[in-house]
Amino acid sequence: MYRDNTKVVKIGDKVIGGGNPILIQSMTNTRTDDVRSTVEQILRLEEAGCELIRCTVPTMECAKALAEIKKQIHIPLIADIHFDYRMAIAAMENGADKIRINPGNIGGEEKIAAVVKVAKERNIPIRVGVNSGSLEKNLVEKYGGVTAEGLVESALDKAAMIEKHDYDNLVISIKSSDVLMCAKAYELIADKTKYPLHVGITEAGTVLSGNIKSGIGLGIILYQGIGDTIRVSLTGDPVEEIKSGKIILRTLGLRKGGIEVVSCPTCGRTRINLIELANQVETLVQGYDLDAKVAVMGCAVNGPGEASEADFGVAGGDGEGLLFKKGKIVRKLPESELLGALKDELDKAVL
Ligand code: SF4
Repeated sequence: MYRDNTKVVKIGDKVIGGGNPILIQSMTNTRTDDVRSTVEQILRLEEAGCELIRCTVPTMECAKALAEIKKQIHIPLIADIHFDYRMAIAAMENGADKIRINPGNIGGEEKIAAVVKVAKERNIPIRVGVNSGSLEKNLVEKYGGVTAEGLVESALDKAAMIEKHDYDNLVISIKSSDVLMCAKAYELIADKTKYPLHVGITEAGTVLSGNIKSGIGLGIILYQGIGDTIRVSLTGDPVEEIKSGKIILRTLGLRKGGIEVVSCPTCGRTRINLIELANQVETLVQGYDLDAKVAVMGCAVNGPGEASEADFGVAGGDGEGLLFKKGKIVRKLPESELLGALKDELDKAVL
């Protein structure tokens, strides 16, 4: 498996690569210099399960804000830098645990050297990120357009720009909104580098289309053993990115823990408001640190079967439902009491 053999890289108090668990990352969408809003968002993300957080650092005020933000959060902080090498240096001086740069756009050799010098002194990893939207002209011409091969060459060239300064504390990412191109690029680069890979489908879209594209793209890539950290990019509340990332990892068997909810699609037999109940259950289970499966089923056809295979389950009847626990019926309840009864069982299970 590729990810078992990637280089181990330490980001703050977390470790990625070399077969360590795949970590879920997100990015704030607040102004980084608005410390209060940024911290508030990061704390919500932490609660949802975010393990690495990235903030954009376009100004010196933002770089300085990192020091204050860091004091109030509990996960490693990554600074995202474009164009100005001074921001990268200031971000590291203000406590960034990792920086993400594009060595191609921070102003030349001397400036790269200056950034690497500070990273080296503090042992701060650098993520070299390439994006299909900004692939170099010469590579577009060489490969006859934006291609997976061009993205890989660009990423390796950029890693080499840092390696030249005798630094290999690196992570690589290749982002494209074209799912299949992105998957192909990761397949190609996994054979060519030992650096940990941060994987994501960029600009994937709104919550619906972004989730589908990310599910497919990350699914293809992760299933091949590629990828050490992930981000699901959504045009929406970043907390949604974390929820989706957790489901993707759990579905692929790459992460244990958390409650999986299975629910039926409903049909003409359904006699309770199952859609509402399933959504309420999905929200309810977010708050539990429990490795379990909860089934929310509409009727007696598949309901008891599915519910009995789960750790907890409800199977709807006509305005009422059965509550199951480890395959056994616990009791029959009116529809209005099903959610509360399920919550009571979950509460007992975590005690
Ligand atoms: S479990 Fe029952 S209600 Fe749900 S889809 Fe199947 S038959 Fe319909």
